[in-house]
Amino acid sequence: MNHVGIGYDVHQLVEGRKVILGGVEIPFPKGLDGHSDADVLMHAICDAVLGAIGEVDIGHFFPNTDARWKNVPSKVFLEEAARQVGFREGRIVNVDATLIAQAPKIAPHIQHMKENIAAALSLNVNRVSVKATTNEMLGFIGRGEGIAAMAVASVELPEPITIPV
Ligand SMILES: [Zn+2]
Repeated sequence: MNHVGIGYDVHQLVEGRKVILGGVEIPFPKGLDGHSDADVLMHAICDAVLGAIGEVDIGHFFPNTDARWKNVPSKVFLEEAARQVGFREGRIVNVDATLIAQAPKIAPHIQHMKENIAAALSLNVNRVSVKATTNEMLGFIGRGEGIAAMAVASVELPEPITIPV
């Protein structure tokens, strides 16, 4: 059976942090705030994969109150999501994501992001899509106060076993 999941995440841009998106560090005067490396793109994809298998969000697996996940690279979260799919004998078909950021420029880094995401999920890179858009200067994203990401994932899962009555 084919299942789909959706994920959304947002992190604030603050002084003294790095911008890491899809595992790529992008030079920028501000950075994304968060307990982990605040990779908003990987977090959205993670929740999409977990959603497709009917699981709870990544915060459940990696609570931000747990010091073990402080500044951890978010590929660890993606690897866990892929492991959860594996437990269910499932297979990720594809993931598609959109970054919403007024700045920095995302386009030059997209291929590298796709490769990092594909590696963390053990997927061929052609099963991963990353797109980017600005917010047309509108709202908190348009003012450069934060970066958001949304994602969908498609996962093939075995048919549930139905026991005839
Ligand atoms: Zn996040």
